[in-house]
Amino acid sequence: MNALAPVASRASGLLAAYGDWLRDHAGIVRTVQWMVVAVYAFLIVVPAFLPLPDGDAHALDNLTVFAQWAFWGLWWPFVILSMLVAGRSWCGLFCPEGTLTEAASRVGLHRAVPRWLRWGGWPFVAFLATTIFGQLVSVYQYAPAALVVLGGSTVAAIAVGLVYGKEKRVWCRHLCPVSGVFSVLSRVAPVHFRVDRETWSRNAGHVPVHPVNCAPLVRIRRMTGPSECQMCGRCSGHLDAIALSFRPPNREVAALPATEASGWDAALIVVGMIGVAIGAFHWSASPWFVEWKLAAAALVVDHGPAWLLSDHAPWWLLTHYPDANDVFTWLDGLLIAGYILATALVVSSLVWGALLVAAGACGKARVAQAVRLAYALIPLAGLGVFLGLSSLTVTLAKAEGWPLGAVPAIRVAVLGAGAAWSLSLAWRQLADVADRASRLRAFAACAIAVAVVVAAWALLFFGWS
Ligand code: SF4
Repeated sequence: MNALAPVASRASGLLAAYGDWLRDHAGIVRTVQWMVVAVYAFLIVVPAFLPLPDGDAHALDNLTVFAQWAFWGLWWPFVILSMLVAGRSWCGLFCPEGTLTEAASRVGLHRAVPRWLRWGGWPFVAFLATTIFGQLVSVYQYAPAALVVLGGSTVAAIAVGLVYGKEKRVWCRHLCPVSGVFSVLSRVAPVHFRVDRETWSRNAGHVPVHPVNCAPLVRIRRMTGPSECQMCGRCSGHLDAIALSFRPPNREVAALPATEASGWDAALIVVGMIGVAIGAFHWSASPWFVEWKLAAAALVVDHGPAWLLSDHAPWWLLTHYPDANDVFTWLDGLLIAGYILATALVVSSLVWGALLVAAGACGKARVAQAVRLAYALIPLAGLGVFLGLSSLTVTLAKAEGWPLGAVPAIRVAVLGAGAAWSLSLAWRQLADVADRASRLRAFAACAIAVAVVVAAWALLFFGWS
């Protein structure tokens, strides 16, 4: 018998017990959720009405800097990371928008979810729009911009809750700008609420049950992974057929058939989490952007139109903080959006081209196979976004005077881990390729896709810094 079996069995028992604990202690979970809402509301509203912090302000003596740490230094990067470890537990247990939209839908109009709202492209469109808009208003730097972007999303979540669903999270399921990202990342999480369908069928009608209110509208009986589940635990133990369980983290993606791979997921991974995210973090460090900007400004000075150089756009549309000498012209706004989209186009075309070449070895339906292979890039895309967001953590830590000598090595390790994980996923996905030579050729093409992504992040962290 495997010497580790008792340890594994004990860990599995503890995990399942934790799932049951969540179910049995809904009151405690709700209290924590409302505490998070209170802290979130305070940190998002109050700093927006305070003067801009001085250059030497610190987290412990300035509320605006403290809020910056909370939102951009810790919350975003580590919530992204948590998806790879604990699935969407953040969504189900802590997210203030989830709590608020569900509470609103308890007292709202309880309308059925219309067809247009269930369109699968919303998470992709919302992620792109929010990412680009966030850059235009400098959401990471200024509290009023954070109030507009995060607060605007929260108001929309409440509004959707007031109209659609009854005690449901329609916003989280269909519209939240990061729900698509969280959904794909959690596909490689090592934990999920496992549904034993045989036990379900056997016990249905024979075992007394309480109805389960699954707020994100998961069809629980058919659930095969954690991508839609928000890990709230309410269904734990239902019909003795559901338990929070460990699983091999690569199994879901490796076994995903091309028929179940979603084009919107692939677009979000390749264009959103890779292309647009890289563009959004690149532009402010890019010497190419500076060259573009100088050339475009010279062109506009010579040929007009002059209004492109005016800097009177409102702060909620384009960055406008004269006190901090940080004001965008309309031309700046156009160039930033253009640079992000151009980067996304170049990077995602290279990645998609490599995936199409790899898909050629997988048999018929080349595009569908390339869509399936795009899922192999989830770890690298997720860890890339984590690195991009954590560069704000590094900037904040630098301002606090923390020693940061280990940062380059950590970045190399994280990027290397993401690349290795994605390559191992691609190799598993290619297991059904007929002969070894074709599998190796397809794997080499996947490796090119991985190399493109690694090179783009390396350029930012090691080429331009
Ligand atoms: S399936 Fe629904 S009820 Fe069950 S844990 Fe996931 S989100 Fe909660």
